[in-house]
Amino acid sequence: MEKKNDIPVTQSSMPPFEEYVKLIEKLWDTHWLTNMGEYHKKLEIELLQFLDIKNISLFVNGHSALEMIIQAFNFPEGSEVITSPFTFASTTHAIVRNGLIPVFCDINPADCTIDVEKIEKLITNNTVAILPIHVYGNIANVEEIDRIAKKYDLKVIYDAAHAFGETYKGVGVGNFGDASMFSFHATKVFNSIEGGAVCYKEERLGQKLYMLKNFGIQDAEHVVDIGANAKMNEFQAAMGLCNLKYVRKNIEARKKVHDFYVAELEHIRGIEFIKSKEEVESNYSYFPIFINEKEFGMTRNQVHEIFKENGIITRKYFYPITNEFECYKKNKAIKLETTPIAKEMSERVLTIPMYADLQISDLKRVCDVLKECRIR
Ligand SMILES: *Cc1c(COP(=O)(O)O)cnc(C)c1O
Repeated sequence: MEKKNDIPVTQSSMPPFEEYVKLIEKLWDTHWLTNMGEYHKKLEIELLQFLDIKNISLFVNGHSALEMIIQAFNFPEGSEVITSPFTFASTTHAIVRNGLIPVFCDINPADCTIDVEKIEKLITNNTVAILPIHVYGNIANVEEIDRIAKKYDLKVIYDAAHAFGETYKGVGVGNFGDASMFSFHATKVFNSIEGGAVCYKEERLGQKLYMLKNFGIQDAEHVVDIGANAKMNEFQAAMGLCNLKYVRKNIEARKKVHDFYVAELEHIRGIEFIKSKEEVESNYSYFPIFINEKEFGMTRNQVHEIFKENGIITRKYFYPITNEFECYKKNKAIKLETTPIAKEMSERVLTIPMYADLQISDLKRVCDVLKECRIR
């Protein structure tokens, strides 16, 4: 349990209470609580504009969004999907839960996204898609992934859970590949309590996604797909509408946290972090540090413990990598390729507190702990 003075690793953004109440009050008149209501429609329209994308479908959470978009492509059962294991459980689970085989590609140590040099070697006759992750909001090498996908006729689905509101070379990040999933979970840069969305290229997928999130029901007498129940409800959509107004401001505040950390940590030997790229407009969703044990004189696990003793919560995000999960070892179809770089990064990483309301005094506390570790 966290203590009262602890600095959490993240804190959910919430709008002024009155603004949320004002929106949900109306639901007591309409009694329309879910099934693509007024707020659901309104949030879709606002997000199309905010994310600068053509098509969107909202979901109850990001994971369901990812499962449904994979299902929407109707890949033959047992097909292979190339992905990387340095991610949240959701990415790999979504592939496996669709009856597909994840094929693990290693990552690039500079930004933890899929190593595009290693993708082609993993392609077989059974490969149908590439599912890269924009890890910590670092945009994967979309140009090279696009080239490979065209050459081998593969679909590209991005896990953009961390990349809400970002642009790459001025283009909204949801425009790359065939589809992208965003998560609006409470801990993400933008939240609708829980929630998620799929942005997609082909217009025809819209109808398909609409049905899949509503049991595959086409109309009152026709059920044409084995869908699930993954609709975003009106309370979630209302929260999204309220929070959306403050996202820009929050990202500004996160940038200040980011810049503070960079200035303070740049000079600590043995602490490495990811350099921002000029062509990416970042959302500053996380601040991962990578501990170089030899130079720093302490392991990641030791640093994690010392932070905890000092009331600062950090997270081993992502550890373990998904190709080391127990749940996949029993499945003989999954090969669990080794990914040495992903493994090493997962053993060195710690995400430190990052959210819009972090105070300077808290930031100082975090940096001081690291400096003191160095001196010990
Ligand atoms: C949060 C997250 C998800 C899942 O999103 P939910 O909205 O929590 O279901 C998927 N992938 C990554 C990388 C995430 O961080």
